Amino acid sequence: MEKYLSQLNDAQLAPTIQIDGPMIVIAGAGSGKTRVLTYRIAYMMSKDIDAFNILALTFTNKAAREMKERIASIVGSSEAKNLWMGTFHSVFAKILRIEADRLGYPSNFTIYDTQDSDRLIRDIIKEMNLDKDIYKYKQVRSRISSYKNSLITVRAYFQNPELIEADTMARRPRMGDIYKAYVERCFKAGAMDFDDLLLKTNELLTRFPEVLAKYQNRFKYILVDEYQDTNHSQYLIVRALSDKFQNICVVGDDAQSIYAFRGANINNILNFQKDYDDVKVFRLEQNYRSTKNIVNAANSVIDKNQTKLDKVVWTANDDGGKIIVHRSLTDADEGRYVASTIFDNKMNHQLPNSDFAILYRTNAQSRSIEDALRKRDIPYRIYGGLSFYQRKEIKDVLSYLRLVINPKDEEALKRVINYPPRGIGQTTVDKLIVAANGYNRSIFEVMKNIDKTDVKVSSGTKAKLQNFVTLIESYQVMNQSADVFQLAEHVTKSSGLIKELNKDGTPEGVTRMENIEELLNGMQDFVEGQKEIADATGSLAEFLEDVALATDLDNDKDDGDKVSLMTIHLAKGLEFPYVYIVGLEEDLFPSAMSMNTRSELEEERRLFYVALTRAEKQAYLTYALSRYRWGKLVDSEPSRFIEEIDEEYLDIQTPIEERRINPMLSADIFGDVDTNGHKTEYNKVRFKPAKQPTLKKGGAKKEPAKYQAPTPAKNLKPVSKTGGNTNLFDGKLAVGNMVKHDRFGTGEVLKIEGAGADTKAEIKFAGVGVKKLLLRFAKLEVV
Ligand code: ATP
Ligand code: MG
Repeated sequence: MEKYLSQLNDAQLAPTIQIDGPMIVIAGAGSGKTRVLTYRIAYMMSKDIDAFNILALTFTNKAAREMKERIASIVGSSEAKNLWMGTFHSVFAKILRIEADRLGYPSNFTIYDTQDSDRLIRDIIKEMNLDKDIYKYKQVRSRISSYKNSLITVRAYFQNPELIEADTMARRPRMGDIYKAYVERCFKAGAMDFDDLLLKTNELLTRFPEVLAKYQNRFKYILVDEYQDTNHSQYLIVRALSDKFQNICVVGDDAQSIYAFRGANINNILNFQKDYDDVKVFRLEQNYRSTKNIVNAANSVIDKNQTKLDKVVWTANDDGGKIIVHRSLTDADEGRYVASTIFDNKMNHQLPNSDFAILYRTNAQSRSIEDALRKRDIPYRIYGGLSFYQRKEIKDVLSYLRLVINPKDEEALKRVINYPPRGIGQTTVDKLIVAANGYNRSIFEVMKNIDKTDVKVSSGTKAKLQNFVTLIESYQVMNQSADVFQLAEHVTKSSGLIKELNKDGTPEGVTRMENIEELLNGMQDFVEGQKEIADATGSLAEFLEDVALATDLDNDKDDGDKVSLMTIHLAKGLEFPYVYIVGLEEDLFPSAMSMNTRSELEEERRLFYVALTRAEKQAYLTYALSRYRWGKLVDSEPSRFIEEIDEEYLDIQTPIEERRINPMLSADIFGDVDTNGHKTEYNKVRFKPAKQPTLKKGGAKKEPAKYQAPTPAKNLKPVSKTGGNTNLFDGKLAVGNMVKHDRFGTGEVLKIEGAGADTKAEIKFAGVGVKKLLLRFAKLEVV
């Protein structure tokens, strides 16, 4: 252990070997907070503290896994296995399973993911005959989520006139009724949503003192990483559990609090010293991650925030290169710039793809970056967005499996009761739902006892319902002897899922089959992995829980050397040698939706601070003068955050593209009439000639080249990057021609229709399928 402790500086060592009592480490990015937490656990174990008594809460399961591996490498893996480590959600889901019956839940309760919650809320809004444009299900869901995270139960809601008033003012007077129905339906389905995992834990710890005592004694030592982003519900759990022994160690950085929109409360870190007696406060000041330029630049930005704890962050690392600021004309140009500099950096310095990360404010921005990376053949991986387990075909398989474990699971049942089609129509399902609500039973129970209910269906339908019940019950029997993989393989075949997908010969259909194969592979891995763990049951329930709680970062398998693309929110805690922060434009970052109050703007600034401090060697900031947003080309100005960085740390570059390429023509418009909006919007575009966004500072050294207003849209000529096909729509293209398209690759012209500017061609692209393209815009080349 001594050897490891020598890998810490003095400031880090102090909190690492301080074991007892409440303590907080407040420190800036990259100063070793996570490292301290990791080494501290190893140190505690070396001092004979039982791993069973240690609870460590992290931001992602991936972070927990990595931490565990590191600890295992120090103290040995057999001991490290006994640590309770994970996200709040995964740790407390496990505890809730053990204690579920106290709260009236089955121990095999389902965890509803956001998609399940959304579907249920949508159904409830529909059943209540409410206007779905006023009661937008996503807004309703986030409302319900915020009640739950503030521990406002349905009963508390109805006792609080202010809440009712607020919802009424927001034109949603039935909000409370939806909340009530939602909670009842989840309960009846034996399901908890993500927020319930925290809410119910709180309920458990408050209502049952003996349970609280049990876990207080169990978790004598509690550690929390990224404490600045805990919400009220999480805060209360930590407080309750640590109340007896007060051995609580939290680490965090108020400057990196970025989840207020999801209920995180920055006051949790600011008030920590008031919550416990004799809190020891530690500060770390030396950053080990980044160059001087990056550290200083980040400091100069966060300095603009008024609400913050004073902190010093410095580094002994090299100066490094200045932060490169690049202006592009369009989002497509920005993508090209990013891809080409990644390419050059890789070539010049012989770097792996994994050294690069591209961070953006919103998921929608990834599209233009992806296009550019693909063209350059640079492999990349997108984190976030729709996770593997949320893809339709995967969810279908999982729904059957969820029913095996918990046949009450209403969302799973609604998904697969008639998929693949087995003649059970929506009318029948609606009748079942009404009956289930009336009898206060699950849909499955109603189906099983249909003869004892007053549900009116034909005898044919009755038989179909009975068959479905029998099918699920047969899986339940099989589950008693088969492992997860064997069962799932059987389910995909016997339910008719595979057959259904086989019917679909499109490339998408093939991909879906491959995904199912991938799921089965993953299950086999899981089964193998479980064999090593002594007390693991390798059960289906466990697999489903892992899947339900996999966060955006956890889902993707490590499949080779790739550039990482993710939102800044997901990048918290991570580090990469080269970091690109793209889309640094007013209204995008800072987001237009987060500029109403100072505190919102300060949160955006903290987000920028998080982004910048992910970089180890080199940071790039890019922005575009115009970009497609919601299908429209909009003009944009550089983000104030660029200006807020002290000029001495910046290298403001002038894009070369603007002199060479007419921006109207380099805009990434491919004339795909399927994606409506582009065509018409394109003709409306006017670049403002007078607009010359330059950075106030820094202009002296490198005067950006004067930007000439491009020719107006009406002078637009068809264009090709290769130059050889400028008059394709004048009639040179014929059925049977082979053509090449920038994005879709090579394809065969199947049909030509329309005339003049409206000429369209139907082209079958290998691997992509048939696309109808407007020749006026499509960048095609006859090959
Ligand atoms: P963040 O605020 O981004 O979560 P952090 O404070 O948790 O950052 P770490 O991730 O623990 O910082 O450390 C940042 C980097 O510096 C890591 O690569 C870590 O291994 C390295 N590092 C930390 N302390 C030292 C040290 N004493 N000697 C060498 N490297 C260190
Ligand atoms: Mg960290």
